[in-house]
Amino acid sequence: GRKGQHSNEYTQSSSSYSDSSNLSYRDRVLLSSLHLDGALTFSNTSSAASDFGLIHFSLPGAILYPKSVRDIQVVIRAVHSATSSELTLAARGRGHSVHGQAQALNGVVVEMSSMKGIKVAPHGEPGFQQPFVDAAGGELWIDVLRETLKEGLAPRSWTDYLYLSIGGTLSNAGVGGQTFLFGPEISNVLQLDVVTGTGHAVTCSPTKHSDLFHGVLGGLGQFGVITSARIVLEPAHEKVRWIRAMYTDFATFTRDQEMLISQPPQHTFDYIEGFVVLKNEDPNNGWNSVPFDAKKIDPSMIPEEGGSVLYYIELAKKFSGDNILGLDQIVERMMAPLSFIPTLVFTTDVPYAKFLNRLHDVELNLASQGLWDVPHPWLNLFVPRSSIASFDDLIFKHMIKSDFSGPILIYPIKGERWDSRSSAVIPDESIFYLVAFLRISLPSSGPLLSTLMAENDKIMEICHDAGMGCKMYLPEHNDIQSWKTHFGKRWETFARRKMKYDPHFILAPGQNIFRNSM
Ligand code: FAD
Repeated sequence: GRKGQHSNEYTQSSSSYSDSSNLSYRDRVLLSSLHLDGALTFSNTSSAASDFGLIHFSLPGAILYPKSVRDIQVVIRAVHSATSSELTLAARGRGHSVHGQAQALNGVVVEMSSMKGIKVAPHGEPGFQQPFVDAAGGELWIDVLRETLKEGLAPRSWTDYLYLSIGGTLSNAGVGGQTFLFGPEISNVLQLDVVTGTGHAVTCSPTKHSDLFHGVLGGLGQFGVITSARIVLEPAHEKVRWIRAMYTDFATFTRDQEMLISQPPQHTFDYIEGFVVLKNEDPNNGWNSVPFDAKKIDPSMIPEEGGSVLYYIELAKKFSGDNILGLDQIVERMMAPLSFIPTLVFTTDVPYAKFLNRLHDVELNLASQGLWDVPHPWLNLFVPRSSIASFDDLIFKHMIKSDFSGPILIYPIKGERWDSRSSAVIPDESIFYLVAFLRISLPSSGPLLSTLMAENDKIMEICHDAGMGCKMYLPEHNDIQSWKTHFGKRWETFARRKMKYDPHFILAPGQNIFRNSM
């Protein structure tokens, strides 16, 4: 079970692997009898037993490779009506969850990538003149970007990494450096096609079946399978100016970030994030990871003051054409009030798509070092603005040791850009921070996976004991009480929607909310 994985006995070599598929004879006969446009297989199901986290493993009983919405309906109806109450179903985007959220032990995993479709409407449609794209739920953001750029358009709100599926990110929120301006990806959706847990195919929007629409956004896959999403587009720029500016003082760093996100949109950057780096020369996590070229920072330029870590703000301004002089002036004006270390600011101009897809190069680089297909005991939090100084003091300054592996993100987000009717859970403050500990567990050195997971638990404990009001993003909780606490006053709506759209609790069991599946 998952709980055991957090216990002290847990070691790197004993990740839980439920490898005996226990599909009952009856369920197998039921699923085999279905007439499908695509394929359903009972063999080689281990391809859907794992995810990016490499921490939880649950072998499904079957994998569906759908070719139509009807396939998904037919299989959901069968699972919904199965006599065995054990049979479940999980949509799987890219399996880039880190805690088994897209897994279904002995159930059916739906490989959403087998259903394709990206259709750009550059001029919108009658009655709605804004450009949008309709994308199948299993399509990746990188492919949506490629298609929309052909029309000179692009979505407005992004995650840092684009090899994620539309349905998977919309089931969480999809946050990044544009969230302060446009809200998360879930705030940029016009319409969804969903197959509910009772097998009904429903087109929903803020005005049509709005309860389902809002429920599915940030809904952790609990109410239906997103087969298609309509996403707002804007004119794409050609390039971005990309800037990183370093700080030793946390209060100055966060004050500058908050000042930047509070300007009117036309007077600020198009993308604002921030990072914590170790105060050492580690090429992946130390100060030398900050400059864009492979150049190293002269250590004498690093001020002595401050704690064990450094901070940097990452900014981008979109531009087109070659009025570089004009751009220089605009950027200079926006940077003028900032108090970063004047010698530690780095700038580069790159094509817009290259900027959006920047983590792909990081992926290739880490993969070449054997550091991509390794366990990822990640912890993502939303920390209220009022708690961020104590968070720095108690956690960044005291818990982040020189053996920390992986990026640490920290940037402010505005609550007003989130729709409170969605299922996404955020702190109750107008500004809160995304804080992400994107840990990797090194294969042959560094702390054990169990130690890293215990450190995450410790962070949660400190947040709780200090009453910081943090909420987990990409949440992982093990029991219903923790989920109720997580949802707070939204729990009632969440549970009501579950009873309405998936009364047999068949969907996304790997989230461990309504049934303990592992
Ligand atoms: P999966 O892991 O396959 O699925 C996630 C959940 O959604 C599961 O419960 C699944 O059952 C459900 N689901 C999947 N598809 C559908 C569907 N079509 N309909 C209904 N439910 C569905 N997140 C951010 O917000 N910002 C970031 O900057 C960011 N960067 C990342 C970088 C990397 C390298 C990685 C690995 C992840 C990052 N993420 C980020 C997290 C990412 O948003 C989640 O992993 C998310 O789950 C998307 O991954 P996926 O598409 O593979 O979904």
